[in-house]
Amino acid sequence: MKPPVPAGTRPRPGFPASLAAGGSKGQGASPAKRPLVRAAFSDSSARPLTTGLGMDSQAVRAAMVRKLEAQGVSNPAVLAAMQAVERHRFVDSALVNQAYEDTSLPIGLGQTISKPNVVARMAELLCHGHADKLGRVLEIGTGCGYQAAVLSHLSREVYSIERLRGLHERARENLRMLRIANLHLLLGDGMLGYPRGAPYAAIIAAAGGEDVPAAWVDQLAVGGRLVAPAATGPGRQNLVVIDKTAQGVSRTVLEAVHFVPLKSGIA
Ligand code: SAH
Repeated sequence: MKPPVPAGTRPRPGFPASLAAGGSKGQGASPAKRPLVRAAFSDSSARPLTTGLGMDSQAVRAAMVRKLEAQGVSNPAVLAAMQAVERHRFVDSALVNQAYEDTSLPIGLGQTISKPNVVARMAELLCHGHADKLGRVLEIGTGCGYQAAVLSHLSREVYSIERLRGLHERARENLRMLRIANLHLLLGDGMLGYPRGAPYAAIIAAAGGEDVPAAWVDQLAVGGRLVAPAATGPGRQNLVVIDKTAQGVSRTVLEAVHFVPLKSGIA
């Protein structure tokens, strides 16, 4: 029998034992066709547990982290954050099997959670040159809250802004049990940044527009770095890094990426 679910709490996904260490994209059938064998978690949160095979998600995340390292992610703090944050808590129960695969996943309302590789790559770019934690960080596009949770391990304070009320609320629910004291979720139009928290040591966007909004650059501290997808041609989007120094602003265009569109207003 399943343990009772506290009122108002969406049952969180369990973790399939079938995705033993080393799960990768394209392995096996679609989530609906795969056997969903639930296993007990080793964490102590109050989420409902289903008893099972004793496998915890730690090992699967360790395999994901080894893969990230093989793909070139080397910052120890970023790798530790990727190991610490349970990505399966942020995706729909039907997609839990794929939570640690290197794939983006739908999170509702037409939006997607980025691939672990992209989250780690962007976090590493943000942390570049910092021996310690980042100071105040602004994330545009909270989505399901996963990347915000990763950033909370790497920064002293995170402001994460989402324009879709449904996702803002979902992220709040996903993050409630984690009780991350240094993460602030905001409902608003991130195109305008969040001037009240400025200046930011780092700004990261999970949605891409025609160009990087001027407000973001304005709200970046001197010595700060911004990492965002931006259009670089018709149907083309690249990761853009903007560094602000006392001498001015420099812009570096990196690899091609594929993010959801940056839109204005709240919906
Ligand atoms: N980092 C997120 C990824 C979410 S996808 C995660 O870990 O789940 C990008 C998000 O950006 C979407 O939820 C989309 O609604 C949001 N977005 C797009 N334009 C925005 C804007 N102007 N302000 C705030 N959020 C925006």
